[in-house]
Amino acid sequence: MPYSRNPKQEQERAPEVRCSRERSRAAWKVIEEYLTPFVEKENYQLSKKCRLHLENDMFRDQEEHKIYLDRNEWQCGYCKKSFREEKFIDQHLDNRHYNLLDLSHGKCLADLCGALHCDAVMNSKSSRSKCNPAAAARNRHLCESLADSCFPISEGPSASRLHELFLHQFCDAHTCSGKHKPFSRGGKDQGSFFRLAAGALILVLLPVFYLFLYLIQSDMKGRNQELRRISRAGWKAKPS
Ligand SMILES: [Zn+2]
Repeated sequence: MPYSRNPKQEQERAPEVRCSRERSRAAWKVIEEYLTPFVEKENYQLSKKCRLHLENDMFRDQEEHKIYLDRNEWQCGYCKKSFREEKFIDQHLDNRHYNLLDLSHGKCLADLCGALHCDAVMNSKSSRSKCNPAAAARNRHLCESLADSCFPISEGPSASRLHELFLHQFCDAHTCSGKHKPFSRGGKDQGSFFRLAAGALILVLLPVFYLFLYLIQSDMKGRNQELRRISRAGWKAKPS
């Protein structure tokens, strides 16, 4: 995205953006975690017509210019200004660099949150609220239209496989029956989670194993000494 430094534009007030940065970020996170690994495995290129394509996220360029330096330090990649918290750099981007946002239609990733289950990664209470059948049907419809536009079955086996995966991963859960959970095919972090769990298990079991060895050894030593004592006693007791 080009960075146009237009002084006249910077003096103007930031326009009201009707797209939530936070929810767009959540949608992006869901895509990165639960879709991108599968798309990469298939070596599939999303078309720009697909609303999940990174160019269809108006905040993408800005989000990628947020440099996370330390727990309390964020830096703006455009002007190098530093901030203590993410919410402050977000405000800065909204106020100072709004001219970099592409406000054209269909670039708000947050609009897809209903289909993508953003609430599941946002720890918000709304995910626990009562299921509304009409809303579930609407989200399912949006979800299926995403599957059709991003992975048209006519494009071949990879697209067909991803189409099916998308339905399982995101769309099946849009029902009030509660039978299907979103992200049933897992995500990027699951593999590393299992590796971590296995590592932790080994770390715990290793000392137990050595303790066991030590106990066996000391037990055998004890028995040997006992045997020696008995046999020595036996020698002494024997009349010569
Ligand atoms: Zn800046």
